[in-house]
Amino acid sequence: MKARFLVSLAALLAPPLMASEPVMFCERPLVAQRVAENTWMVEGLKEELSTSNCGHIGNQAFIATPSGVILIDSGSSPLFGEALKALIAQHASHPVRWVLNTHHHPDHFFGNAAFDEAQHLTLTTTRELMARDRDALIDNVERLTGRSLERSHIALPDATEAGDITLGSYPLSLYAMSGHSGGDLVIMDHATGVLFLGDMGFYQRAAATAHTPGLQQWLEELSDLSALDARIAVPGHGPSAPPHTVLEQTARYLTWLDQRLSDVASEGLGANHALAVEIPDMFSTMALTEYEFTRSVMQLYPRYEARLLWDTQH
Ligand SMILES: [Zn+2]
Repeated sequence: MKARFLVSLAALLAPPLMASEPVMFCERPLVAQRVAENTWMVEGLKEELSTSNCGHIGNQAFIATPSGVILIDSGSSPLFGEALKALIAQHASHPVRWVLNTHHHPDHFFGNAAFDEAQHLTLTTTRELMARDRDALIDNVERLTGRSLERSHIALPDATEAGDITLGSYPLSLYAMSGHSGGDLVIMDHATGVLFLGDMGFYQRAAATAHTPGLQQWLEELSDLSALDARIAVPGHGPSAPPHTVLEQTARYLTWLDQRLSDVASEGLGANHALAVEIPDMFSTMALTEYEFTRSVMQLYPRYEARLLWDTQH
């Protein structure tokens, strides 16, 4: 009896077996990088959605807790979610019990279907945006990655509110922001000091701004986030780094973009003029700067022109 107890105790305490075979996705090994105790991130490629990356462009992170794994974001397809699940199983002895989705962009929640047995959670505002945009986002991912998604498998998570939350026995703080997409969940793990920024933070990769309610709003929220006492930040895209490094780079780029658009609008010039600029050297370490800058001008410049018109008429 006693011997049997010892054996089962040993089995419980044994670390999960490390599979010798790397988990592959899109013909590349999927890698979990340890960022803190019991905490890993999986870094996406610093690219846009394409057939060659099969949609693996966003970051995911997971925390192994005594009562199950907490996954933060799930990638851009159920197929990717399956690969992520296999990778997590190499590092954690429990399955994923909770999935937190940081925002409604497809590279952050389309993999949820692989974690059917887990509870899926996001902010109420984010869930509304998911419901609004889901079909268009599925079309977009299918077109850009050349892979079809099973529409019925892209389900929406349950809604939760910001504040302190306990998953199993593991406490996390949830912050409701909106600067990047209109509904952005930022997660702080006080036990390890890890700040999971979602796409509120981009590092070494230019920020995507299509759904921002306004760059000033985003900048104000970045300043709020910099007041948190975090040790390391996991951005939505790009590598992990000290929080002030990630937040400052995102803020510096958004400040420059905002200034550029304001300046050209105040001169009464068109979008083409806004595009005709050398991107400053300080952004040369960032991927996709030219690409995102062009997209931002096309998407945001009409707002700057309209605002100027409003200002001059009132
Ligand atoms: Zn993203």
